Amino acid sequence: MTTYFRPSIDALSPYVPGEQPASKVPVIKLNTNENPYPPSPKALKVLQEIPGELLRRYPHPMAREFRQAASQVLGVPADWILVGNGSDDLLTMIIRACTEPGRSVAYPMPTYVLYRTLAQIQAADVVEVPYPEDYTLPVEALVAAGGAVTFIASPNSPSGTEIPVELLDKLASQVTGVVVIDEAYVDFAETSALDLVKRYENVIVLRTLSKGYSLAGLRLGFGVANPTLLSGLIKVKDSYNVDAVACAVGAAAILDREYKDENAEKVKKSRSEMVTALNEFGFEIWPSQANFLLVRVPASVRAEWLYQQLKERGILVRYFQQSRLADKLRITIGTPEQNAALLDNLSSLLQKS
Ligand SMILES: *Cc1c(COP(=O)(O)O)cnc(C)c1O
Repeated sequence: MTTYFRPSIDALSPYVPGEQPASKVPVIKLNTNENPYPPSPKALKVLQEIPGELLRRYPHPMAREFRQAASQVLGVPADWILVGNGSDDLLTMIIRACTEPGRSVAYPMPTYVLYRTLAQIQAADVVEVPYPEDYTLPVEALVAAGGAVTFIASPNSPSGTEIPVELLDKLASQVTGVVVIDEAYVDFAETSALDLVKRYENVIVLRTLSKGYSLAGLRLGFGVANPTLLSGLIKVKDSYNVDAVACAVGAAAILDREYKDENAEKVKKSRSEMVTALNEFGFEIWPSQANFLLVRVPASVRAEWLYQQLKERGILVRYFQQSRLADKLRITIGTPEQNAALLDNLSSLLQKS
């Protein structure tokens, strides 16, 4: 059979994002970890007032305005920041710049599935190290894996568990390749590993505006690392990888830290209420520092059945058809009203079963 593609592309099973129903369809969407609250009013004002001239010209290749704003908010120099079209764009740059056949990618499992997909596109070898049931970081096994790149999501998805900074520090000190600490959910957590970038030349911390800042549709993320590590990534990035609108709107959003923190507090409050309620229903829940919960469903039901039944009732949660996750669901924290609707439906479904 003829093929148009490289063998690694023919062999690839593509990444499957969570369902995105048309916005007119009234569903309670608790499947892709979006923030249930609207973006900052200051960011929306910038969006509404975008001048035509900003769109007529090419954007700044390094997203200067956003980079400056992020530098101010994080207290790191602007040349330690690399901006991308979502943090997924940073993942792509890292894989492209650092890996190829013979230069492997390592990460603990289960985690963000895109790490595997991007490594396979690059035809890099993949070393997957299983997490234990309590999601303690398997530092020794990851060091032994010898990845040219090691990915750690903290808080991790789909478990929601946070990796203690001491363990990330230990990993960074023992690994020779690049250590990527993906902090997509840091806005809902109590700690960050950002300081490690100052101590280790091989560490890059990734952040996104998709979760904490309610801007998943804008596509804006960034990496923080020393300029030496960033220099190689800049070589492989698309010339204009961040559009002018995302740059301007994102700058206003990240400067409105107060608004982001208020919403994160609301989510965290709902998270602890959901833990209590789901525990009473007989769900087993992993300790989450993110805006979602990984839950093992009660023994009386199957996770896939529950997912389907909720879907028929207009509530989307995430079910992963993976060996370790077949009896679990990942549930995004919604507004109090959305959470209450979920609990109501779960209550009647569990009684029925
Ligand atoms: C959501 C998510 C991302 C992607 O963020 P974008 O900035 O929207 O591309 C990256 N890593 C993890 C672990 C995520 O859950």
